Amino acid sequence: MSKPVIGLTASHDLKTDDLRMGHFYIDAIRKNGAIPLVLPLTLDEEEAGQLADTLDGFLFSGGPDVHPFLFGEETLTGCGDFSPLRDSSELLLLSQVYEKKKPVLGICRGAQLLNIALGGDIYQDIFSQVPERFPIAHRQPFGATHPAHRVTLESGSRLAQITQSLSLEVNSLHHQAIRNAAPCLNVCGRASDGIIEAVEQPDHPFLVGVQWHPEQLAGKYEHADRLFSSFISACRKV
Ligand code: MN
Repeated sequence: MSKPVIGLTASHDLKTDDLRMGHFYIDAIRKNGAIPLVLPLTLDEEEAGQLADTLDGFLFSGGPDVHPFLFGEETLTGCGDFSPLRDSSELLLLSQVYEKKKPVLGICRGAQLLNIALGGDIYQDIFSQVPERFPIAHRQPFGATHPAHRVTLESGSRLAQITQSLSLEVNSLHHQAIRNAAPCLNVCGRASDGIIEAVEQPDHPFLVGVQWHPEQLAGKYEHADRLFSSFISACRKV
């Protein structure tokens, strides 16, 4: 049986204009029996459509902030840098992938992008916008392979079934976060301060967004390995 091929969106180094990809994503996909294929940052609509038809699943990776115009806001103090190329390519790709009902895993920025593309919005900067409500250090002061806070999952959610748990120890490397979930997405996980940490679409073959970085916990935390193996199983079925 041939392995599923997972399209992996790359990071954009804004200083050199180079494309970059963290090895953790590649390793987690490979260890779970799929081939990671790093995608360019320059997709037009036709190319995005062709990739959505051809590949078996898509991982939207972590990265810089999403431009606030994309969710109808002015830029606020605390918003960070963005990549015009990445915003545009990923939104074109996501729209095609969603239309074709291909499995999608969104990680960190990827979860936020998923939410914005489907009609939700995000906090541009948790710490300056709502500091009193969300006291957890969502940008953790230590290495990403260590967990920083817990996420409570909705019982009966897909993510709870996948991870076989209702409380996950996760890492946290974000200063933006989902504010209002898109109408088609269920909030299925929250940090103990209430920040939305996971969303999913129940009637979709596989559409899950997580605010943490499971690729950096894989091999150490079972819930992270289960998430990757379940995503790749869904990619095998399509
Ligand atoms: Mn967090």
